[in-house]
Amino acid sequence: MALNEALLKRLIETPGVPGREEQQREIAREELAALTDEVHTDPLGSVIGTKRGNGDVRVMVAGHTDEIGFLVKYIDDKGFLRLQTLGGHFPMNMVSQRVLVTTASGETLRGALQPQRKPPHVATEEDNKPPKVDEFFVDLGMPAEVVKEKVRIGDYAVMDRTLEKVGGRYIGKAMDDRIGVFVMLEALRAMGDHEATVFAVATSQEEVGLRGAEASGSALKPTVVVALDVTLAIDVPGGGNENEITALGKGAALKIMDGYSISHPKLVEHFRSIAEREGIPHQMEILPFGGTDAGGVQRLHGGIPAITLSIPCRYVHTPNEMVDASDVQAAIDLLARYLEEAHTGDYAL
Ligand SMILES: [Zn+2]
Repeated sequence: MALNEALLKRLIETPGVPGREEQQREIAREELAALTDEVHTDPLGSVIGTKRGNGDVRVMVAGHTDEIGFLVKYIDDKGFLRLQTLGGHFPMNMVSQRVLVTTASGETLRGALQPQRKPPHVATEEDNKPPKVDEFFVDLGMPAEVVKEKVRIGDYAVMDRTLEKVGGRYIGKAMDDRIGVFVMLEALRAMGDHEATVFAVATSQEEVGLRGAEASGSALKPTVVVALDVTLAIDVPGGGNENEITALGKGAALKIMDGYSISHPKLVEHFRSIAEREGIPHQMEILPFGGTDAGGVQRLHGGIPAITLSIPCRYVHTPNEMVDASDVQAAIDLLARYLEEAHTGDYAL
């Protein structure tokens, strides 16, 4: 079955950084309105679609809408922009990229993202040192007066990359975590009868510390939380088998642990048994660091059974984040089957 590429493209290419997810909220509201009974937006900017069930089980599904990005923090006399980073940027991946700056009037300006370095022709040894994050600036190609008219401190910027299909895989910026939002929406579309109430939450501010998910989890009081996020696939040169975490094309990944949460073992078993029964490709994931919305929500209300269903992704936090279409489909199938029978789960310890 082919993926819904039009939706994936819209999710990937629409800018949204932590705290400035307004354009993503529009997509979430539109999609969730068609797939759930009621949609509302909470004060931290997460969009919640509620699909009512008739039992006591309340499942919160969380996919984060924010992507790593930047805020404009200073505009110099020549019109160059200086940036505040939001989320984990690695300076080597920022060199000579292009960015899109969204202004207060809603205009999108394209610019070159460059480190303070001389051209190679005249570079000294000092210039060959790897740049630091705060050495970068944005060149919008416009006179300073025009830049200052259009851009304000606090306007936001993201990497400028379109979604592309390469072989059987998709690459683009912001696969982290629009692919999680995508899996959530497509699983809602694919699921059949259910008894559990499902809160489908397009969360905000994950990349700066799981803030949106904690706020919405606190209000919704779910009995189970399923986070959807990318995980590392280091099945590439320089990885090493025992360190690859996951591999592309081997299925959806069931997270056993990461730096912020140890998935509830009975919930992991429930997902695993469904995957085995339904023949859905899956792999087990142990990530020694990092975290997802599951880590934030599991600690609320005296503790909530939590799991992360991961989509393996190469080159995470670069503009070339790559996922395999079959892994995405596996995650959609597994989540849909789980939601249909979430009411049967017994996670008592
Ligand atoms: Zn993420």
